[in-house]
Amino acid sequence: QIDIKSDIEIAQDAKLKPIKKIVSKLGLSEDDIELYGKYKAKLTYETIEGLKKNKDGKVILVTSINPTPAGEGKSTVTVGLGDALTKLGKKALIAIREPSLGPTMGIKGGATGGGYAQVLPMEEINLHFTGDFHAITTANNALAALIDNHIHQGNEMQIDTRRIVWKRSLDLNDRALRQVVVGLGGPSQGVPREDGFDITVASEIMAVLCLATDLLDLKRRLSQMVVAYNLHKEPVTVKDLGVEGALTLLLKDALRPNIVQTIEHTPAFVHGGPFANIAHGCNSVMATNAAIKLADYIVTEGGFGADLGAEKFLHIKTRAANFKPEAVVIVATIRALKMHGGQKKADLHMENIKALQGGLQNLQKHIETIQAFGLPYVVAINRFVSDTNEEVMELMNWCKKHEYPVALTDVWAKGGEGGIELAEKLLEVINKSEGQFNYLYSLDLPIDEKIRRIVQKVYGGKDVEFSGKAMKQLADFERFGWGQLPVCMAKTQYSLSDDPQQLGRPENFTIHVRELKPKIGAGFIVALTGDVMTMPGLPKKPAANLMDVDECGKAKGLF
Ligand code: ADP
Repeated sequence: QIDIKSDIEIAQDAKLKPIKKIVSKLGLSEDDIELYGKYKAKLTYETIEGLKKNKDGKVILVTSINPTPAGEGKSTVTVGLGDALTKLGKKALIAIREPSLGPTMGIKGGATGGGYAQVLPMEEINLHFTGDFHAITTANNALAALIDNHIHQGNEMQIDTRRIVWKRSLDLNDRALRQVVVGLGGPSQGVPREDGFDITVASEIMAVLCLATDLLDLKRRLSQMVVAYNLHKEPVTVKDLGVEGALTLLLKDALRPNIVQTIEHTPAFVHGGPFANIAHGCNSVMATNAAIKLADYIVTEGGFGADLGAEKFLHIKTRAANFKPEAVVIVATIRALKMHGGQKKADLHMENIKALQGGLQNLQKHIETIQAFGLPYVVAINRFVSDTNEEVMELMNWCKKHEYPVALTDVWAKGGEGGIELAEKLLEVINKSEGQFNYLYSLDLPIDEKIRRIVQKVYGGKDVEFSGKAMKQLADFERFGWGQLPVCMAKTQYSLSDDPQQLGRPENFTIHVRELKPKIGAGFIVALTGDVMTMPGLPKKPAANLMDVDECGKAKGLF
């Protein structure tokens, strides 16, 4: 009974319930939400305020091993686990990110889960949804326009046009825009200068929106964003330009969490979407904090592997949102483990126990990292139809031998039913846990030392090396009083190291930090490592080539 329907076919066949019915499971009425059509809604600020008196639910973070190019099914398992907990009679809520059009049109297709573990309406969530990303892009570019206008109108702040750090943004992969020149055409067209575009999901405004705890906090964070340096090499902020009010206004609706449903009608927040390799990688604090007050179990996701999404979720997001997570699910697939053990992508459908054994070290490193954070966890094996029984047994036995809690999940094929074993195991480890969550670095360490801790404790590397430029920035940033901020590493997702080719569990490697970026509004310092880019490019055969729409407006090819 192998199901060969594609994600989009399954999503289009699913029967949705009106979103006002879905929110009633959370004790909310139609008055507590603002409808965006029949199946999408945003919480109102009054509703969010009213939740504060409720008791807190338990947050479960879903992470994974280092992904291979296919994506390993973290969102799928997150959605399926939420459905499974609901099946077990628990009040569960899912909180995940909104997809970016960059990967949707590029390599990945949609990002709303897969198979029978999806959030709906899949097409809309993957395309323009409730307009949040457009609002973020607009706020980002409004600021860019205001900076250029300030310079054109006399440059009272003495902004050094060679030291503007604010870039324009676009929610697409477009390598041609990485470096551009603006203001060409003579005096009435502005002041010519070098500029560039970042993808919206790497914009500081995306991070700010996802870390803000309310509208006032959003405004405070926006006002602190550094946009440039002046001729005295001192930072110039949004507050100096006096435009934080306008930016907050542009974002006032985007800040409110979106609520939708899974195929099995479990409520799900889908809100905010920073990438985990070049940004902090988790859905908004607004959504998670509201979810904590609305449900007993909140299943949420950090992007890419535990070296990126989980590390940033645990060091950056929990600090900004002020909660402690309860447990972690580490998703692994046999396919990816075999790739970490040296098997070629084209051969992944073929049994290879030796490659699987070789790749287990990657999983082991991530388990050790989560153990170091002091959190209980379950390894979730996301089953693919190509996995053989021998391979599954090998992985299960390895986990049992090391006493790693493990569950086989089949939510892609079976929905919530396929996640019951995982949900039960998770409830068991939560009940047994003594709750010793701790950070792997404290904020009072100098910035370089924080980076070194991440490299050594999370990546398993030997040390970190800073370029001349980064060394100088370290000194400047401490001088500007930014030394107390956490660090947001920008690193390839494919390897624990900064070299995407080094799969498995590389050792004795050095991480190369080429540049630091102050994201003072977001409240972290970005460390750019290796060759990682903040504006991706499209692949040779973009997913866009497979997309189409019929005469009734029904989408095709969103995977
Ligand atoms: P991630 O969150 O790790 O990037 P996703 O959950 O978005 O991964 O899944 C990526 C793709 O893989 C989706 O198209 C999904 O349908 C597919 N997928 C996930 N799990 C399975 C599975 N067990 N079998 C087959 N395909 C799967």
